[in-house]
Amino acid sequence: MSYDALDALDRLPRIPLLDTATAVHRLERIEERLGLAGRGIRLSIKRDDVMALGGGGNKLRKLEYHLGHAREIGADTIITVGGVQSNHARLTAAAAARHGFECEMLLARMVPKDGADYEKNGNVLLDALFGAKVTLLPRGENALVHATARAEALQAEGHVVVILPTGGSTPRGALGYARCAREIAQQEDELDLRFDRIIVPNGSSGTHAGLIAGFAALGRQPERVTAYSVLAARDTAATTTLGLAREALGLLGSPAELSDAHVRIDGSQLGDGYGVPTAAMKDALRLMASAEGILLDPVYSGKAFAGLVQALSDGTVRDGEHVLFIATGGQPGLYAYREDLVG
Ligand SMILES: *Cc1c(COP(=O)(O)O)cnc(C)c1O
Repeated sequence: MSYDALDALDRLPRIPLLDTATAVHRLERIEERLGLAGRGIRLSIKRDDVMALGGGGNKLRKLEYHLGHAREIGADTIITVGGVQSNHARLTAAAAARHGFECEMLLARMVPKDGADYEKNGNVLLDALFGAKVTLLPRGENALVHATARAEALQAEGHVVVILPTGGSTPRGALGYARCAREIAQQEDELDLRFDRIIVPNGSSGTHAGLIAGFAALGRQPERVTAYSVLAARDTAATTTLGLAREALGLLGSPAELSDAHVRIDGSQLGDGYGVPTAAMKDALRLMASAEGILLDPVYSGKAFAGLVQALSDGTVRDGEHVLFIATGGQPGLYAYREDLVG
């Protein structure tokens, strides 16, 4: 098999942050519990939650290209933004520490939640350990405005600064998931199989966008990716995803084309909004933990897996399909949601 259509991934500036391809394996206990064998349905998971640096998670793939760019332009400081429990901010801090950049983050209150667990535990605890300068903004403040002002102040002192937006979801960040699409294609070829359906959460859309850009460039059915939106309304997420994916194809120099029909987003798991727990998320998280010993997160992967469980039970997933669920990480969020998950 040829992956030449994605050769640009190896030429564009990048700092490797993952040691190896992440594992793909079957979820046999869950197949059993949900009675999937009788329907010929196979369920596999890709472990993007297991990476050596900073606790791991999907944001490390995007950060490979962000840090590559930062080094290319001689930056010494990375400023990023996100919600209080941002996994992206935590992994930016870890990657910056590992590769000698200063890291500052401005965290906004995007979720109607407070208390000590939410504001001090989980990702927030780790941000501080990784040595980042953390500023928790009052409700209603725009983090990007503060980040821009801070960058200007640092630049006036002679620093070279890179600002990463929420989730690192720029076309450059999406390249990390085009690279993941290539990795999945290689794993399919090694295992001599094709996944019929690939499931991910869609938050700031860079993960979904990168995957469909990568599969489109390789001619491997981008429409088999179904994303569950956990932040924006379905249509908004679809527009953002298509835009990012097309720009990523541009960076890759790929002639492949993407249209609305390639962007499959399901909005049914959003519930009352970003970071607000749903009953289905809690059930899905417990199913994965108790049947497989694998931890999902309450904000993203728990909701996406809840969507998959629903799709398996209502016949959306057809008999005989082989489904790949991408576990995107975010386990530190569990500690911030202690009250929602126990007692
Ligand atoms: C950010 C995040 C996502 C969503 O990725 P986007 O590229 O923002 O859509 C999914 N899972 C976890 C654990 C995340 O931290």
